[in-house]
Amino acid sequence: FDSLEPRTFSIIAHVDHGKSTLADRLLELTGTIPKSGANRQVLDRLKVERERGITVKSQAVSMTYDYETPNADGSVGKKRYLLNLIDTPGHVDFAYEVSRSLAACQSALLVIDASQGIQAQTIANFRVAKALGLPLLPILNKVDLPASDVDRCLVQLEELGIDTADPVHRPLMISAKTGLGVEDVLKAIVERTAAMPGTEDGKVEDRDGKGLRALVFDSWYDSFKGVVALVSIKDGAMKKGNSIVSAHSGKKYEVLDIGVNYPDAKSTGILRKGQVGWVICNMKDMREATIGDTMHLANDKIEPLEGFRPSVPMVYASAYPVETTDFVKLEEAINRLALNDRSITVQRESSMALGQGCRLGFLGTLHAEIFRSRLSEEYGQEILVTAPTVPYRLTRPNGKVSIISSPIDFPSDGDRANKALLLEEPVVHGRLTCPEEYTGEMMQLCSEHRGEELDVNFSEMTGQKRQVELKYRLPMAEIVTDFFPKLKSRSSGYAGFEYEIAEGEEYQSSDLVKLSFQLSGTPIDALSMILHRSKATAEGRIWAKKLKDVVPRQYFEVAVQAFVGGKVVARETVSAYRKDVTAGMYGGDQRRKDKKLKNQKEGRKRMRELNVGRVSIPSESFIKLLDRS
Ligand code: GDP
Ligand code: MG
Repeated sequence: FDSLEPRTFSIIAHVDHGKSTLADRLLELTGTIPKSGANRQVLDRLKVERERGITVKSQAVSMTYDYETPNADGSVGKKRYLLNLIDTPGHVDFAYEVSRSLAACQSALLVIDASQGIQAQTIANFRVAKALGLPLLPILNKVDLPASDVDRCLVQLEELGIDTADPVHRPLMISAKTGLGVEDVLKAIVERTAAMPGTEDGKVEDRDGKGLRALVFDSWYDSFKGVVALVSIKDGAMKKGNSIVSAHSGKKYEVLDIGVNYPDAKSTGILRKGQVGWVICNMKDMREATIGDTMHLANDKIEPLEGFRPSVPMVYASAYPVETTDFVKLEEAINRLALNDRSITVQRESSMALGQGCRLGFLGTLHAEIFRSRLSEEYGQEILVTAPTVPYRLTRPNGKVSIISSPIDFPSDGDRANKALLLEEPVVHGRLTCPEEYTGEMMQLCSEHRGEELDVNFSEMTGQKRQVELKYRLPMAEIVTDFFPKLKSRSSGYAGFEYEIAEGEEYQSSDLVKLSFQLSGTPIDALSMILHRSKATAEGRIWAKKLKDVVPRQYFEVAVQAFVGGKVVARETVSAYRKDVTAGMYGGDQRRKDKKLKNQKEGRKRMRELNVGRVSIPSESFIKLLDRS
């Protein structure tokens, strides 16, 4: 690899637009993997990714490509290039991972499914790439499909501000599935990306142990190798045996092994400017391999590369073991999984009702869902996951800002009355697309979820149903609950929805309240929720009913109450049990009555019980009530 001129690129696309398929074809065409034509998805290595068709972690792979150039005498010359492909996740929950992967690249392929056109995530990725100043190579994929509409895509690209007539941005039409036009993609990568200064013709600088700047853009924990960091060498070279220093922490390490993925890990002993590969040094803990960090040589003065902003969790939920005794095992499993995904935050929490558990922060709902399924698939842990909460922002009169990620931390009514507290909730910009006939229904759905209409567009499509595109500003809290199932059912599955966090408009002030519940005067903390005042009474009624259904009859009457700000908003009553169990047995024989009472007592004994004041609830039914997974 050392003598080859490098090009580092990434593929960005909306989910299912063909990124993984294209990556497979590129690897086959360059002989990096054998030709199979099958859908191999080489880059998607984690089991959960393959099953769900989602790329979670970014991966890097190198390949060599023989670029053909006509010589002056008419013969064909060949120049071999080193191409480094950095894969990025495609879902909006992972926008942060996209940005850190792109920073390691020189250019990006913007893949668009020509039958679908530009989608929200295409735009979100496009913006990240543009902000980083990366050259973009638009690719219209799936042109083999009869539904593909290249002209419409061209118009949409122009709308994004891409001059499709400019040779540098001229879109390529391909089919990643059949391989049509894929060779042109390789050519275009070479032609349209400039060589990094100092790497032309493979004359890669070494600078003799000086000037190394390596950008850490991904890392994970491997049970055999320890901490593995993926780096993109921006200047100089890194060699096995080098003493390197983290610009972020100042900590010093020794390079124990270094190499590339081709497509599997291969030691090379060195990585030079323009190359992308993995480094193993004596890091003990994942947290030492900070994403966005610059590694440099010991005793060398360098300017660190521009870092990254840390990821911010947008959805919080609590996880509790189904059996209280399993907490230690659960916590261990959570920590091990979180080790490979630093965008997850973990904090211990305890609930009166559920015992010890963990409060987890995720980038979005999909992220949370993937985490939960990995936990049960890879660690065999059955867990209870509570309702998701978004991070609310609380600003005190003295200007102090704090984030409230759990109802436990919601300010008390007294505090709110006495102090001028500003409460805000996160908002997103959503883009909903559906066939025209569902427009009314979908607008209704958005407004039920406190959405504010921003824009409505009807597409002009020949031979197909007219599509409508609705743009809404929506509170994040509204889309983490039942928005998606409703969207699907009320549009007969035809509507699509994507959201992004609008920069500079992350929060809006909101009339938020805490809804809490009591059984005969004793609070049940695990059921509390933060929500908008307009929803509190209706939700209070729904949950009071659900709660009533899981409270077994007692010897006394039990009041189920829902409170907002000290006021009861809903009430249900569980009537006393002796009266009811035997009701309807007028004068029936006493032995039967006694037996029924005895049976019920024993039945209750078998299950663990949750004690709320004087009331006992079988924990199994309480868990069912709480679990939203
Ligand atoms: P990703 O989510 O962007 O990685 O998309 P995938 O590469 O997983 O592709 C999504 C689906 O589209 C898969 O079922 C592919 O087989 C299919 N697909 C990808 N490229 C093409 C193409 O050029 N033509 C057709 N007809 N299908 C394609
Ligand atoms: Mg994929």
